[in-house]
Amino acid sequence: MSQSTPEARERGRGMDAHNAAMRSIRAENDASYDPHEPTRVWIDEDRTPDGVRDSLTVVLNTGGCRWARAGGCTMCGYVAESVDGGTVPHEALRDQVEAVLAHERAHHDGPCPLVKIYTSGSFLDEREVPAESRRLVAETFAGRERVVVESLPDFVAAPKLEDFLDRGLAVDVAVGLETATDRVRHDCVNKYFDWADFVTASEAARAAGAGVKAYLLMKPPFLTEREALADMVDSIRRTADHAHTVSMNPCNVQRYTMVDELHFRGGYRPPWLWSVAAALERTADTDAIVVSDPVGAGEERGAHNCGECDERVETAIEDFDLRQDPTVFEQVDCDCHATWETVLDEETGFCQPLAR
Ligand code: SF4
Ligand SMILES: [Zn+2]
Repeated sequence: MSQSTPEARERGRGMDAHNAAMRSIRAENDASYDPHEPTRVWIDEDRTPDGVRDSLTVVLNTGGCRWARAGGCTMCGYVAESVDGGTVPHEALRDQVEAVLAHERAHHDGPCPLVKIYTSGSFLDEREVPAESRRLVAETFAGRERVVVESLPDFVAAPKLEDFLDRGLAVDVAVGLETATDRVRHDCVNKYFDWADFVTASEAARAAGAGVKAYLLMKPPFLTEREALADMVDSIRRTADHAHTVSMNPCNVQRYTMVDELHFRGGYRPPWLWSVAAALERTADTDAIVVSDPVGAGEERGAHNCGECDERVETAIEDFDLRQDPTVFEQVDCDCHATWETVLDEETGFCQPLAR
């Protein structure tokens, strides 16, 4: 459906150099992982179009994202957690699914109505998850209410979604769009597809009867705090027309990534929690559900404020996620809000000369 395959995009688009740098950073990682165990599994609550539900979240250990093998996105450390250099056979994925069910039995009273399946790549990419394994997953979770499957736009196609839809499950495709601005997605995130590809994939999903959950990245590298906030507000507004849920991920500093290298050299700071709150507050009037669950909030490597108010602002963000009520942010304040405003006014991009 689209020309935006990882391979086609890498050539002659200025991404070659970016990818070469990413490959050399990732090569520093020599950990390896068991293909019979999922990368991660946990149970919490999440908002769906039908309300808040207990949620079983699974990160399956697959061969990892194809794009990450080429070099991949500047902030993405997930590939560091995938099985080295290859695909995971069906039998191993079956063991992973068994391990997930065992975890759920041990930690939850009955089956969770919502199941979210991530792979550190694309669950709908058949090189990563063979059709046989995808059908096994669909069959395993057939009695649930809703399944969310992660995929890049290239791999979204009705027959793959029908494996789930035909079993009576509500299905959402989770797409890591990152931003609605092609220039930022290409040059700051180093992600290869275009906004138009996302729109096409979202239309295909919706025509098949599935929903779309879009993930946006707050403050990729090379943007100032103000640029990042403006891009996020604009991206949420545009994306809300094509997805029932928009999940904003504040960029966090993961190992073996370009963001990590920049952070180490003083060239990157994760976003302020004030920026996360401001983006949610300013877009609360959109039709989509807009949520954010900042990874590592309050820590140096995650979205953070001054250290004094982080927990309070994080709690306000959690309240907003559940209630979608922007007034929750009126109840938090701190002296560092003024510092954040100064940052918005004064910060310039990394490597900008101070004098000429
Ligand atoms: S963010 Fe997604 S597309 Fe980019 S390298 Fe990571 S898994 Fe691949
Ligand atoms: Zn503060």
